[in-house]
Amino acid sequence: MKEKQNRVIISSKNQAICRIEENCRNCGMCKLVCNSKMGIEGYYDLEKEDDNPICINCGQCVQSCSFNAIIPKSEIPIVEKNLLDREKIVVFSIAPAVRVALGELFGLQAGVNVEKKIVTALKLLGAKYVFDITFGADLTIMEEASEFVERLKENCKLPQFTSCCPSWVQYLETFMPELKNNLSTTKSPVEMQGAVIKTYFSNVKGIDKNKIFSVAIVPCTAKKVETKAGFINGENCFGVDAVLTTTELGQLFINRGIDLRKIKNSEFDKILGRGSGAGIIFGHSGGVMEATLRTVFYLLNKINPPKSFFNLKNVEKSGAIKEGKIDLIVKKIDVAVIYGTAKAREYIIANRDNLPQFIEVMACPCGCVGGGGQLKYVAGELENIINKRIKGLKGIDNSSIIRVSYKNPEIINIYNNFLGFPLSSIAKKILHKKD
Ligand code: SF4
Repeated sequence: MKEKQNRVIISSKNQAICRIEENCRNCGMCKLVCNSKMGIEGYYDLEKEDDNPICINCGQCVQSCSFNAIIPKSEIPIVEKNLLDREKIVVFSIAPAVRVALGELFGLQAGVNVEKKIVTALKLLGAKYVFDITFGADLTIMEEASEFVERLKENCKLPQFTSCCPSWVQYLETFMPELKNNLSTTKSPVEMQGAVIKTYFSNVKGIDKNKIFSVAIVPCTAKKVETKAGFINGENCFGVDAVLTTTELGQLFINRGIDLRKIKNSEFDKILGRGSGAGIIFGHSGGVMEATLRTVFYLLNKINPPKSFFNLKNVEKSGAIKEGKIDLIVKKIDVAVIYGTAKAREYIIANRDNLPQFIEVMACPCGCVGGGGQLKYVAGELENIINKRIKGLKGIDNSSIIRVSYKNPEIINIYNNFLGFPLSSIAKKILHKKD
């Protein structure tokens, strides 16, 4: 049957999203978003791709569909199967943006932090350990900041583009391959978390890594694809075995009759369960830049960053493209923060010969808080809901005792006891993509 023309084409092999044919009204919203916000549909020739549609797996078509005709590809069955397997040790890790959105499903306001309720609920389901991906975000910051300092000193491979958003990485590699070397080589927080669960954590606990079933809970459909390519270099295993979106996690809780409002709080497990305020703000656009610059400042000057590096004003303005000048004492640098891959391409083309030294790009609106795997919002409510989720993350950062990654005691421990130092050979082996 000829593909209906109004909608995006989704391959049957797509590992992130799928379409429920009977729900589709051919309204065209998915195509509109894919074209105008993501810059994909309409920007390539399907015939030249041998009829394989290009998809960066961002899931914004899921969010745009009023008829629930496009949904994340569910991994609930594999997670449930492993929870029932007595041989398996099921370990969950929760990404920053999930905690300020999931409560909405249980009648709480957007932005309310339900991380401690999620820990309890996962333990009720049979999780052995529950970790916080803000730890993985702190690790990403340590590696990415060190990489940026190196590039700055050597004046090479600049601008450095962030690499934590797999949809953005895939977009750049597909549409602007000439800039591939400008991407940071650091893996995303989710992938780093998975890598250290199957190495450092399993060693410290004396657990056979093959018995661990590692589940990442994320706001993102693209992580479903990213993690399936995430074989840990030299370890013969994947860091993450399954990915649940915020929506899927909510579904799992509802299936099991768990109401988040009615359960007690629990703490994350040690040794990968603590993140700094910097790790938390990875969940919104501009947060990756701010978090990384705090550590860049420290690495360059060996003193803590001044107040101005907390709630960075010059990259704080609203809008899909923000620019700023950052004073690092030894050097002043230009930075840019962008969300939406269509805007990123537009910006890069317009500024090709004069790009800032450090550029953060996230695919989804306002970053992961508006991710394709987040709970869907009612039409017209998008801005309001997303702003509340951002406020929630900023509030956690503002009230954190530790707001810089290099002071996170669990980060200090992993470098002292396992990785050595940022960009060490072991860090490059398991936490970075090969050049
Ligand atoms: Fe995933 Fe966040 Fe990127 Fe959206 S912005 S594709 S949620 S990593």
